[in-house]
Amino acid sequence: MESTRRRISLSTWILLGLLLGAVAGVGLNLAFAPELGAEKSETFAAIEGVADRLVRPFGDLFLRLLFMVVVPVVFCSLFLGVAGLGTVQRLGRLGGRTLLWFCGTGLLAAGTGTALVLLLAPGRRMDAAVAAQVQAQYVAAAQAKVEQSQAAKGWLQVLVDLVPTNVVGAAASNQGLLSLIVFALLLGAASIRVGPERTRALRELLEGVYALCLVILDWTMRLAPLGVACLIFHAAVTLGLPLMQLVGWYFATVMAGLLLLQFGVLPALAWGFAGVAPGRFLSACRGLFVTAFSTSSSNATVPATMRTAEDEFGVPPEVAGFVVPLGATMNMNGTALFLCVVVLFLAQVAGVALGPADYAVVLGMALLVAIGAAGVPGGSLPLLALVLAQVGVPPELLALILGVDRVVDMTRTVPNITGDLICSLWLARR
Ligand code: ASP
Repeated sequence: MESTRRRISLSTWILLGLLLGAVAGVGLNLAFAPELGAEKSETFAAIEGVADRLVRPFGDLFLRLLFMVVVPVVFCSLFLGVAGLGTVQRLGRLGGRTLLWFCGTGLLAAGTGTALVLLLAPGRRMDAAVAAQVQAQYVAAAQAKVEQSQAAKGWLQVLVDLVPTNVVGAAASNQGLLSLIVFALLLGAASIRVGPERTRALRELLEGVYALCLVILDWTMRLAPLGVACLIFHAAVTLGLPLMQLVGWYFATVMAGLLLLQFGVLPALAWGFAGVAPGRFLSACRGLFVTAFSTSSSNATVPATMRTAEDEFGVPPEVAGFVVPLGATMNMNGTALFLCVVVLFLAQVAGVALGPADYAVVLGMALLVAIGAAGVPGGSLPLLALVLAQVGVPPELLALILGVDRVVDMTRTVPNITGDLICSLWLARR
């Protein structure tokens, strides 16, 4: 209860930061920015100077704190995830079905997000002059990075590059993180082979590192009101109203996707796989949805999800006790959808052309992020930066979407836990 209160008030603070930054930035832009092509006034140049030198550094600090934990979080969570599959393996059929469900519904959600962005093209809804301005501000180095995007490489090279020649080097470069993931997955698989006894010390060490990173992430999120205000102010001063429109398009797209998932796709799955009619399903889950939405954390919602599964739908405790906690860390349908929308939207904004290999990478990464992201507020944000770098989109562009992320985070947490619940209903029925 105590922590719920803190979370709610933190979200309010973040929203206030967003509003404050946006209103001040757009206001100054409308009052002082020159007409397109005209000379900048001295006042506007001074305002831009302040935004650049005094405000942006605080926004960058927030971003960097997020990026800082990427390598340990990715490594620990994927290693521990795969190593933990040893237990799932021992659970035989139940474990196998659970994983099948996680992958299948994760891909479905990621595909829904991808289709929506391709259909609505939210990142292309700005005129050429604004696009040039956004790109000048954030994408200075993008051209060089486009060269490195998967599209330029071809399938075989993409596959070869998945395997690092030097693990330490892979961890040290943003482009190499995908190969670090491969290493973590292989190491986890090897640990299943070696057995729990000989790897216990390593697992405990990595669990410790992971827990510490989550504490840092929690601290970082407390800085979010300030970080978000600074990032959005800086962007809004230079780009003005068109920026807000662009963010609005992103917000509308991602929310449409999450609502479609939550009220269309998932109830249909509950009906098809567990025989629960959509009306009954949604009404029995109302309290659960409120908990997930207000805490913005799958982990914090686990007790409520188990209670709903057992009390409302009669799922046996041993099934709920296995699927729900595992799903809270490994199965995040809302996050998978969100990830695809963000990456493809920002690629559109940056003018990065993605090829089929890039789409495959994005979909695959959506699944990995769903596995690797922690079920805490903002848990997927550090990983998002990684995927952006992977397809040649500058991670700094995240500044554009972070302002509205709190609301999106609250919303995506609801399908995240709903997916776990339906999985437990399906397994219980079988
Ligand atoms: N907040 C989400 C959850 O707990 C994770 C995320 O997408 O950031 O499920």
